[in-house]
Amino acid sequence: MKVLVINAGSSSLKYQLLDPSTEEVLAQGLCERIGIDGRLTHKIPATGAKHEFEIPMPTHAEAIQSVIDALLSKEHGVIASMSEIDAVGHRVVHGGEAFNKSVLITDEVMKAIEDCIPLAPLHNPANLTGIRACQKVMPGVPMVAVFDTAFHQTMPAKSYIYALPYEYYEKDKVRRYGFHGTSHKYVSGRAAAMLGKNIEDLKIITCHLGNGSSVTAVDGGKSVDTSMGFTPLAGLPMGTRSGDLDAGILEYLMNKYNMDIKEMLNVLNKKSGVLGISGVSSDFRDLSEAAEKGNDRAGLAVDAFNYGVKKLIGAYAAAMGGVDAIVFTAGVGENSADQRLAIASGLEFMGVKMDAEANKVRGKETVISAADSQVKVLLIPTNEELMIARDTAEIVSK
Ligand code: AMP
Repeated sequence: MKVLVINAGSSSLKYQLLDPSTEEVLAQGLCERIGIDGRLTHKIPATGAKHEFEIPMPTHAEAIQSVIDALLSKEHGVIASMSEIDAVGHRVVHGGEAFNKSVLITDEVMKAIEDCIPLAPLHNPANLTGIRACQKVMPGVPMVAVFDTAFHQTMPAKSYIYALPYEYYEKDKVRRYGFHGTSHKYVSGRAAAMLGKNIEDLKIITCHLGNGSSVTAVDGGKSVDTSMGFTPLAGLPMGTRSGDLDAGILEYLMNKYNMDIKEMLNVLNKKSGVLGISGVSSDFRDLSEAAEKGNDRAGLAVDAFNYGVKKLIGAYAAAMGGVDAIVFTAGVGENSADQRLAIASGLEFMGVKMDAEANKVRGKETVISAADSQVKVLLIPTNEELMIARDTAEIVSK
């Protein structure tokens, strides 16, 4: 079965055509500058070929059409006919409380995703646009929605409730939802497989550390707590997002600098995080480089981030009454040996012992804890596209 996985943003669209049973990626790429002019980058992993095109993309429909044309092209295509695409899997950011798993897209599902727009005003409209564009260009092909929030719907109320007047939860659905669910689910499943154990018997802490970062407590295969909240602004400091802070700071800064809430949120979303602390970059590679050259604020940004992850690991071990495995994934988690070591060092008291040599690795499934470490520490590259393709294949096969 061949599944086309679509991750639509407001002006961009990522895609992958893959076979979930063999895990082979036939083609992958990116449409950018949708609504401005339009650029397609199309790659064939089997040959390493990379093609770039300037194609007018006034809307997402032209972007999807350009993807289909590239997949079918005589020169750089990978399929002979559109009928070879058995299904399309769409990443949808927010499923609210309506979705605790992936679903076949119907008119009712579209309506329910629309109802979640107030919870994710930037993301869900773009995801819906991507789905509608696909429906227009590929009528009759079954489509599945895979939600970033779904995996976290198993959290107990004590984890997701905010200490606000209860009616804001009841009436307005203000609660912790959590994000990166597809990634946390994938890497926790792989962790169990690597350890040769049933996931039902394991307590795992998954650290998705990238430009956006979140940590999740996975007990018996279920998310029981996670660091992102009502929106992806919560939890750890991120590339440009502040993460958790004292809400009192908002009033103080807004009054002092005469900012309205929009300007304040722009600061919290775009100018904060490790970029804000360092004044250098939101990219951890730049920060490490600057810190090595003696830039103290760059060093402080990385330290504050690592410390935040370490505290969450401690908190989630307490929440679950122990931990069997800690997983590092995403850009920083998969690539930065120094940060993994900094995060895990000092956790020896709870049975974490790293193997510094084994930790000198990038982007491949590896046990990076010492043989006698009570808690296994694992590096597992995430693969959200494969997860989306698997869910899609399973749902359309039923
Ligand atoms: P992601 O959002 O998962 O794509 O992760 C992107 C982030 O990974 C970037 O902001 C980089 O800071 C980080 N990253 C990628 N490679 C490295 C590396 N070798 N060392 C440290 N950070 C890295």
